[in-house]
Amino acid sequence: MVAAKAIVVPELHAPFQLVEVELDSVQPHEVLVELKATSICATDPAVQHGKIPLDFPVVLGHEGAGVVKKIGSAVTDLAEGDHVVLSYNSCGKCRQCQKQNNFRCLEIMERNFGGQREDGSKTISWKGKPVSSSFFGQSSFCNPTVAHISSCIKVDKSLDLAVVCSLGCGIQTGAGSIFNVVKPAESDVRSLGVFGLGAVGCATVMAARIVAQNNPTVLSQIVAVDVNENRLKLARGLGATHTINPEKENVKAKLLEITGGENLDAAVDCSGVLSVVNTMIESIGAGGIAVTIGSPGNDSKASVPILPFITGAKTYCASHQGNANSKTFIPHLASLYKQGRLPIDRLQKTYRAENINEAIADMKSGSVIKPVLLWR
Ligand SMILES: [Zn+2]
Ligand SMILES: [Zn+2]
Repeated sequence: MVAAKAIVVPELHAPFQLVEVELDSVQPHEVLVELKATSICATDPAVQHGKIPLDFPVVLGHEGAGVVKKIGSAVTDLAEGDHVVLSYNSCGKCRQCQKQNNFRCLEIMERNFGGQREDGSKTISWKGKPVSSSFFGQSSFCNPTVAHISSCIKVDKSLDLAVVCSLGCGIQTGAGSIFNVVKPAESDVRSLGVFGLGAVGCATVMAARIVAQNNPTVLSQIVAVDVNENRLKLARGLGATHTINPEKENVKAKLLEITGGENLDAAVDCSGVLSVVNTMIESIGAGGIAVTIGSPGNDSKASVPILPFITGAKTYCASHQGNANSKTFIPHLASLYKQGRLPIDRLQKTYRAENINEAIADMKSGSVIKPVLLWR
């Protein structure tokens, strides 16, 4: 047992609270990570408010980055002193993992939202009792933390860990929806709609601009949709060619106008709002692809108009973690950031770890897109 500081959610809907905890020792497939920073993703407050069920108290956090301090006996590809970004956990053994499709791991739910290790033990105890932990194989609202080797992505030491921490979930999810799912260059995607401009949506816009820069014949129209004018302005700076505020304009009519009556070749919903998902589905044209990233909740059902989908041979699909294998994708994104092509630092604002509730309030109000907690 090692002493650590953790931000716990003591019970459903309770505020986050920075407390002293005890950390279990590392098992063979784990490493001890001293965190520099952990950014906040919408999934953290979603668990706090019961939208994803986990037992309380719980230690969340799934966008951590830090330095490896100790490695388990079975760890061969990391050493003490390595810098790591922490991402989602996968088993590495199932049929999907064997195909390098770790984002579809057959154990994805229990390994990321199970609140415990595979053997049922917990990495963190509070007031002498084990608490739900191993969130995304990391629970990086605890410092230091015990992370599963599958969640650890080694990155270049020249990178600022307080920036690249955000690659672990949200940025990977947005950028991957373009690079790995829509694949605009292969599919001749001229028009793209991005619905919702949180961190995921902004990363989607940034990735679209990168593809457009590399392939001048595609993505001449990148349309960002959000109700927040500041975010629309930001999106224009990140690569959006058009913006729509649904509170001021009719989204479907405006998209028809922008696309010359053809509707969108591709669309990505990052809002997780069911009515927006349905608008997205209705806004793609012949051969178009609509991609769901944000979840409106456990029981939500999107509505697909079947006949237009048949006659237009359209696709509605979902993407998880950008359909990315983090071990290769996160270093790729980190190099794009280093080249100045994926300016994720423009989305971030730093806070001291104990100010997490203020950080989440700022994220929810829309004044900050990606809050980053600093551990010192
Ligand atoms: Zn996340
Ligand atoms: Zn697996």
